[in-house]
Amino acid sequence: MDFLPLYFDLKDKPCLVVGGGEIATRKATMLLKAGARIHVVAPELSSGIHELAKDSRVTLEQIEYSREALDGMVLVIAATNVYDVNLAVSEDAKAINLPVNVVDNPPLCTFILPAIIDRSPIVIAVSSGGKSPVLARLIRSRLESTIPAAYGRLGALVGGFRDAVKERFSSINQRRGFWESVLQGDVAELVFSGKEQQAKQRLEEILQSQSGDETQPGEVYLVGGGPGDPDLLTFRALRLMQQADVVLYDRLVSEAVVDMTRRDAERINVGKARSEHTLPQEEINDLLVRLAKEGRRVLRLKGGDPFIFGRGGEEIDKLAENGIPFQVVPGITAATGCSCYAGIPLTHRDYAQSVRFITGHLKNGSCQLPWNELVHKEQTVVFYMGLVGLKTICEKLIEHGRGANTPVALVQQGTTPSQRVFTGTLETINAIVESEQVKAPTLIIVGEVVLLREKLGWADDAGLPEA
Ligand code: SAH
Repeated sequence: MDFLPLYFDLKDKPCLVVGGGEIATRKATMLLKAGARIHVVAPELSSGIHELAKDSRVTLEQIEYSREALDGMVLVIAATNVYDVNLAVSEDAKAINLPVNVVDNPPLCTFILPAIIDRSPIVIAVSSGGKSPVLARLIRSRLESTIPAAYGRLGALVGGFRDAVKERFSSINQRRGFWESVLQGDVAELVFSGKEQQAKQRLEEILQSQSGDETQPGEVYLVGGGPGDPDLLTFRALRLMQQADVVLYDRLVSEAVVDMTRRDAERINVGKARSEHTLPQEEINDLLVRLAKEGRRVLRLKGGDPFIFGRGGEEIDKLAENGIPFQVVPGITAATGCSCYAGIPLTHRDYAQSVRFITGHLKNGSCQLPWNELVHKEQTVVFYMGLVGLKTICEKLIEHGRGANTPVALVQQGTTPSQRVFTGTLETINAIVESEQVKAPTLIIVGEVVLLREKLGWADDAGLPEA
């Protein structure tokens, strides 16, 4: 993060605008909206700025800028078209640690102005850190169109109840739960439909009907976080990720996905590398039960899909036994995510009529897989957790009759910016693993469909669309 967004209380505070043209007028207008008192200095003053000065909080002074103009100000914006003046304002302000913004010149600034969506008291600031103001503005217009103006009225209404709610509920978790249900329930609906008086009454009723010390029962959300690219999350996954108080995630879940969980949620990494289980499965199951019993909303975030080689079944089994409510959200499993981003359709009318997902995690190195069923020519076989056993897998497939020149693809860290894809055959792929130092997590795709990658690959090695 290059800049920390802060919200500045400017009510009745003196701010200086250097410059009297159109841009200066725009900046002064914005400061005025925040309740500032504004002094404008410039040798020439446009009609626009004269118009603005009809407001008693704006004063104009038709002179050249000089250092004394900064005295007593809490911030300054330089909006002249003379570089030397802008530079002087910047240097003078920096010398006395006065926050300064020079329009369109980030190196001269100590603060930058974001694009703003104003639904006061809700104010959303969007910034590109000076890299692309146009992009920030485009994002702003998207947000403008999706956030109803009534959110401002809702914010104002609930603001009046903050203290009462604090008094009623001593714990932060309870208060949060209360507000979440109010802000997503009929109170919000009433405000959105213009019935603010009714909304206020309803909020009072709800508050009266709640006894402060009840512990609400917790819940567990078993959510598939997909193979890595956060764009592949479902809407439901995202909603629950934003709602949960505590998050338990695996090593397999990408950082970008973990970052989409609520900022202030407690995050617990329960590890699970292939052979070094940070927390044994039993303990994870028990932890889920304990946290939910404390009344917490617990997100169990898994890589891919929770029901595909994810032990999701075992975890909710324990929850069901203990009568804890839960919901399960599917995720894009590695096979579909990786094959898609590698340009390899898992089935194809000409090459493969079926696909099998197999665990390549060979227990004690022994092979109890139904090899005879895996060697049909027109079947794609996808191995999860197969990298360590790849040599054995290839040998066994050849031994049971699959051609040694059957194409094989390895997709390492599929769908992430670190995606790497390697192709070879049952005979050659092991050498590639060694020479390229392929690492987990890697998915193995065996079958003729791998050949299609050459024509259908649409993402580059970094899992991004090819230029
Ligand atoms: N529940 C997960 C699978 C867990 S098993 C899912 O549905 O995807 C772990 C194995 O999944 C890894 O060993 C690897 O073979 C595969 N895998 C998961 N994410 C992957 C990724 N982003 N790229 C490549 N393989 C991945």
